[in-house]
Amino acid sequence: MVAYALMHKCPKCFALLAYLERRIKYYCSKCRKAYPKLLIEANTFRIYNRFQRNLDRENLQVEIEQQKRPKLSPEERKERNKQKRAIWMQNNKERVIAFRENYYELHKDEFVARKRAYRANMSEEQKKQENENRKRAI
Ligand SMILES: [Zn+2]
Repeated sequence: MVAYALMHKCPKCFALLAYLERRIKYYCSKCRKAYPKLLIEANTFRIYNRFQRNLDRENLQVEIEQQKRPKLSPEERKERNKQKRAIWMQNNKERVIAFRENYYELHKDEFVARKRAYRANMSEEQKKQENENRKRAI
């Protein structure tokens, strides 16, 4: 409360006020005027409140600025999205499988045609190799 009292200022000239205990008033030695204790303390409290509110707002703004993620370059953003997608896929395996199955059903003809074209272009040696691989996989 003492430190608080030190902050009381004259409403007219903003000089520091002295507290006159016996008169329950604050006194400005510049203006040579005494002010009621309640008035001065209410004033100080209001000013202090406004000051504190502005300070809080500034601190909050600083905090918000600090929490903002740094700007990423397009390559960094691409890489980050790739990682995010990989994590999401890890955590949503069923949805990924369902999506793939659905996608396959929708594009089945394309897949089959592409596979057929691929096999048509394979050499005999490659076909043999693939058949052996398939047998081994079973
Ligand atoms: Zn004054």
